[in-house]
Amino acid sequence: MKYDDYLLRVLKHECPFCDIKNEYVVEKWKHFTVLLARAPYIKDHILIVPNRHLVRLSEITPKERWDLILVIEKWMRKMETIHSEVNLLLRDGVAKWKVGKSIDHLHFHIVPDIPIYSTNSWWNREIYTDYQLEKETTAFKAKFKLK
Ligand SMILES: [Zn+2]
Repeated sequence: MKYDDYLLRVLKHECPFCDIKNEYVVEKWKHFTVLLARAPYIKDHILIVPNRHLVRLSEITPKERWDLILVIEKWMRKMETIHSEVNLLLRDGVAKWKVGKSIDHLHFHIVPDIPIYSTNSWWNREIYTDYQLEKETTAFKAKFKLK
């Protein structure tokens, strides 16, 4: 399935970051969840998502802010142990489909090894099926020795 078909189907009915199945969780924090991107730009592309539905970074509480800095710092360092370079991208605000933002729920991307940019093909990238995402999440956690 292509990413834009997935978005049209899923986003009509639900926010994909408000109900993340345990099988897809890489690491759960008090205020944030780390998971693999379902439609990755590249292998090992991960997301950091607040556990409550926030649209703007400015909505986070001081406690969430502290948690966020720690989780970003931890996962940037972890990714750098197996990738030579890593980028952090913030998706903030309502998606208006101009800048590659597609989900309103605030989230961060940690993307290794490639520059971050949008092209036309960005919308045509393949997405993981539920089964593939679960399998990839298990393999990713094993790589970082997480339970
Ligand atoms: Zn949400």
